[in-house]
Parts: sequence; C-alpha cells; structure tokens
Amino acid sequence: MFGKILIANRGEIAIRIIRACRELGVKTVAVYSTADRNSLHAYVADEAVCIGPPLSKDSYLNVKSVLSACELTGAEAIHPGFGFLSENSAFVELCGKCGIKWIGPGVKAMDAMGDKANAKKTMRNAGVPVVPGSDGIINNFDEARETAEKIGYPIMIKASAGGGGRGIKYVASEDDLEKNMVAAKSEALSSFKNGDLYIEKFIVNPRHIEIQLLADEHGNVVHLGERDCSCQRRNQKLLEESPSPVMTPELREKMGDAAVNAARACGYHNAGTIEFLVDDDLNFYFMEMNARIQVEHPVTEMITGIDLIKEQIKIAAGERLSFSQNDISFSGHVIECRINAEDPQDDFRPSPGKIQSLHLPGGFNVRIDTAVFQGYQISPFYDPMIAKVIVKGNTREESITKMRIALSEFLIEGVQTNIDFQLNLLKDNEFQSGKFDIGFLNRKKLI
Ligand code: ADP
Ligand code: ADP
Ligand code: MG
Repeated sequence: MFGKILIANRGEIAIRIIRACRELGVKTVAVYSTADRNSLHAYVADEAVCIGPPLSKDSYLNVKSVLSACELTGAEAIHPGFGFLSENSAFVELCGKCGIKWIGPGVKAMDAMGDKANAKKTMRNAGVPVVPGSDGIINNFDEARETAEKIGYPIMIKASAGGGGRGIKYVASEDDLEKNMVAAKSEALSSFKNGDLYIEKFIVNPRHIEIQLLADEHGNVVHLGERDCSCQRRNQKLLEESPSPVMTPELREKMGDAAVNAARACGYHNAGTIEFLVDDDLNFYFMEMNARIQVEHPVTEMITGIDLIKEQIKIAAGERLSFSQNDISFSGHVIECRINAEDPQDDFRPSPGKIQSLHLPGGFNVRIDTAVFQGYQISPFYDPMIAKVIVKGNTREESITKMRIALSEFLIEGVQTNIDFQLNLLKDNEFQSGKFDIGFLNRKKLI
C-alpha cells in the first residue's frame, strides 16, 4: 500500500478521498488555491500545499504546481477525484515520467475513451451497441448535412472532447444545422480547446442509465449494477438512483456484460462508468465512458456495500479485486440528490456567499457527503455543488419518503440552494411513477 497520497481536488470529493485513505492507513496531502485557504480539505489532510491563485487554470489545473506539491511532500500517488485533471491523459503520462502512480486508468485506455468520437468506434468494434451517427468526427458542413440526412433528424451535435453537458446541441431540422454547428464548435473550443464535433441521432425520450465498473491491473473486471440518471436539467444530473425503475435482471445482465466487454476492449483498469441511453423498448446504446470516479458513486456504494474509493486505491497499489461478479449483490433502493448553491428563481444562477447557519440532516441510512460548515464562504470560482444527500430504503417508495424527510431537515442560510426544487421533484407524480425520461425536467416547471 502507498505511504502517502496527494488529492488533486477540492470540496466534498477531496474529503471523501481523505477518509478512505485514513481507513487504509495512508497519509494524505491536500492541495488548495488561495480562495480555498479556509476550506475543510486543507484543514483535515495530514499536509496541505497551496498551489496557486483562485482560477482553476492557475491552481487545480496547474500541472507544474500539482507535481511540485508531490515532490515537496513525497506523495507516491495522485487521486484526481472528478473534473479538474481527472481525464487529462497528458498529465497522467507526466505523472508516470515522474514516478508518481495515477489512481485511475492507464494513458492508452484514457485516450481510447477520452475522445468520444473515437470511443464510439472502439465500442462498435467490441460489439457494444452505439447510438447511430457519424463515423468519427465531421470535418465540414457538407459532411454534417449528409450524415444528418442519412440518420434522420432530430440529431445531436457533440464535442468529441466534451464533458459535463457542455458542447452539446440539439438540431431539429436542416434549417438549424449550420448555426448549431457553429455554436457547438465555439463552445467546444472555449471549454475544451478542441473544436472536433461528431453527430448522433437524437434518441427520443430515452433514459440515462450507467453501469459502474471496477477492473484491477490483473485482468479482472466486474460491474456493480446501474445508476439511473434520467433526472437532469439541461443535460446535467440532479438526482440519481439505483435500481433504475425500468431495470430487469435480464437487462442488467445484458448491460453489465456490454460494459465489462467495453472495459476489456480498451484494456481498462481502476473505476470507470459506461453511460448508456435506453429507449422505450429497452434497447440500450453506448454514449460515453467516464474514466474516473463520478459524483454519484455513493449510490453504488450504498447499494452494494463496496467502498469504491478504497477499491480504487487498492487497485492502483497493484492489489487484485477481492470479489468476483457472483459475490456482488444489491440491496434496497438508493437515491442521491445533488445540492447546489444556485438560485432556481433566477434561472439556477450560482449563488456564492457565506453560510450563516447550517443544519445537516441525519438518521438511519442517511449519508451526507459535503465539505461545507457554518461560516464557510462558498467561492464563485468553482462548481456550485455543495453537498450530496444519499438515502437508502427497502423500496423506492421508502427511499423517496426518507429523502423528503432528510431534505426538509436541511437548513442552510446565507446562500440560495436547489433544495426546494429537489423536494418538488420528489413530490412530482411523474417522478414517483418512475415513468420519465431525460427530458421530463426540462418540460415542467417545478419552482
Ligand atoms: P458527467 O460528466 O457525466 O456529468 P459527473 O457529473 O460525474 O459526470 O461530472 C463530474 C464533474 O466534472 C461535474 O462537475 C462536471 O461538470 C465536471 N466535468 C466532467 N467532465 C468535464 C470536462 N471534460 N471538463 C470540465 N469539467 C468536466
Ligand atoms: P457529457 O460528456 O457532457 O456528459 P453525454 O454524451 O454524456 O455528454 O451527454 C449528456 C446528456 O445529453 C446525456 O446524459 C443525455 O441526457 C443527453 N444525450 C446525449 N446524447 C443523446 C442522444 N443521442 N439523444 C438524446 N439525448 C442525448
Ligand atoms: Mg455524460
């Protein structure tokens, strides 16, 4: 096992990783920007190193600073969390050159999956069903028009380097194609410094169902079931649950097998997630692979009893998985709500500021992952997600009730949050029926 790990992240995920390290007897190094000087992760880690000014590009994305912090503290491995450097394969390569172990997949697998257009090719060759679309990236307007005509409107234009719901445009007909291509390209260039685009058929009213994977460095790959992330606003996940209301044991086995094959096809190791779109007839299509831990990983932890972060660290330390597919079982129903500092009354604008008072929910099978505390100043520089509430009940109904109780206990003053929005979602008939798709939240007004 490692002696010391550096956590190249902030907020609740940094705290989550520090806790796992503690359980494994591993020392921790936090890195922080000057805006995060008074953040929890900088306090609770064994050591903390300032890596630069507030803007992410100058601190959490500053490769030189992060590597220097490793050097300075003697950390042997880096856990990237999600976002920031987590999917930056050039950085992973640099870590290798510096003799620092990356707690995540290898460079080759990351490159194969990081480019979304290329990943679809790899998957198609591995026999995994993919959304019909362009064969790789589209080079010009004529190619786009021909592809769109062939697969039929409506279509999605996507950034090949995309993530976090950015660089995605819906196109209803040829009239809207050119302007959306231009918009997608400029968004892709500004967000990802890469303007490559590809085209996909728009799947009407699908669900977003993803499969969690764990793979060790000795060829063992297992899946840990699904998470249903169909509750989204503008392509961003809000509430995740498992099992999916539409899942059957047969479909879980089919999607699980496809995900395991996908991981094998690119020589993947560590934790990863395959995202699928699932249509009304329960056909499923590969959408992308997230080559990192995800925000919603606690859903899987609560339903399987497996600590994904500890597994990630053990895998990176060269250990074999201590269980096989048959050992994995699922119990109860788990829901996660993402709590963001944002104002639903003002088009969900981020709402930074000082937390004047705070009371967090609790109770049997109620888990809160957060890094906020009373007096904490929520910074405008980073993601507005401030907490995750995860509950487990015996049934979906019980889980919904438990979440409603937990969220009504949640008190936070000083900033606006989406808690009331989440409560309205939990009360919504369509949500409660379990029969909804990824567009349903965009179609209704919950606040
Ligand atoms: P997804 O990317 O499928 O939405 P998550 O919700 O787990 O998965 O994303 C984790 C976080 O990382 C989110 O805050 C998201 O905005 C951010 N993120 C994901 N991919 C990228 C990327 N390529 N560039 C910048 N931020 C990203
Ligand atoms: P990101 O890398 O930004 O997470 P994804 O490719 O995962 O991008 O797409 C984000 C979301 O957009 C999905 O969760 C889904 O809601 C929607 N989406 C993506 N592709 C399609 C499609 N072909 N048809 C319909 N909806 C889609
Ligand atoms: Mg995605």
